[in-house]
Amino acid sequence: MSDLIGLPAPPPAGDTALKPGTFDDVAVFVTGGGTGLGKAIASEFARLGASIVIASRKDDHLDAGRETIAALGAPVRVVRCDIREPEDIARAFDEATDAFALPGVLVNNAAANFPVPAEDMSPNAWRTVVDITLNGTFFCAREFARRHIVAGTPGSIINVGATYAWTGGPGFAHSAAAKAGVKNLTESLAVEWGPYGIQVNGLVPGLFPHEDMTSDIRGNLDRTSDKDVCQPAMRVGQRQELGWAATFLASPYGRFISGHTLVVDGANWQRRSLTNPPVVTVREQMGRGPFQPG
Ligand code: NAP
Repeated sequence: MSDLIGLPAPPPAGDTALKPGTFDDVAVFVTGGGTGLGKAIASEFARLGASIVIASRKDDHLDAGRETIAALGAPVRVVRCDIREPEDIARAFDEATDAFALPGVLVNNAAANFPVPAEDMSPNAWRTVVDITLNGTFFCAREFARRHIVAGTPGSIINVGATYAWTGGPGFAHSAAAKAGVKNLTESLAVEWGPYGIQVNGLVPGLFPHEDMTSDIRGNLDRTSDKDVCQPAMRVGQRQELGWAATFLASPYGRFISGHTLVVDGANWQRRSLTNPPVVTVREQMGRGPFQPG
């Protein structure tokens, strides 16, 4: 394997391709922006001059997001908000608008997920994941668009997705179905709201491990010994690479891109063939015994 060079490493975090100040005077509203990839996306907007609003449920996540963005020298406001609740979202947008201005960019990054064989999944687990990932994304997008349509101002929405929106996600049926909905929703909204100046795109990360991953997701990943050699790129993603893609999509240079879903995964999801390793059931992969009804 040593002669395989894979895709080159990116420039370090802190570099930007866009001009400094690209997002001066723009407030960027990031759901789930206190952890992992949401925090990385918020950081790249902050480096380019944006004011950042982070919306999520847990104080420790909000504190972490505030500290990270403040350390970059950007204005930041955190708002406790459960994106399943339209009233919470409206209040969060009121607070964001009072603190800065009506956010010009919405990053629908928050999602819920955990691995579970479909036959073991409770109705509550199904409902919760779909409610946060799909319904929450729609409720936030709707709030953002209604305010811009009334104000007569343009805006940009980025919906964070996942590649199993196309392929299905064995072991993650709830999340995969919800992300398929998010991708489809992106396409409907881009057409409906283009006339009002609102651009709507999807942004799909490949494998981007990070320290904030929940123990369920981390445990699932830990079953693969070496993440890098399992990727055509011979490496996993670095968080700034996703942040750069997000800032480009919402920048003046990406204005004519709408209804598109951009995948940042080093071609990992296209790695399919008609002959694959022998089938191992999701139960076995997860180390679960035989299915026990009831
Ligand atoms: P993460 O660290 O677990 O972040 C999820 C965020 O969503 C948390 O900040 C959480 O904050 C927030 N959240 C969850 N439920 C919420 C609710 N009801 N209301 C408001 N906020 C809520 O996950 P991540 O790995 O950074 O993933 C970010 C996005 O990338 C997700 O859309 C995920 O599906 C996608 N993705 C990630 C990867 C990857 O390799 N990491 C791969 C494919 C796709 P609170 O707990 O404070 O509410």
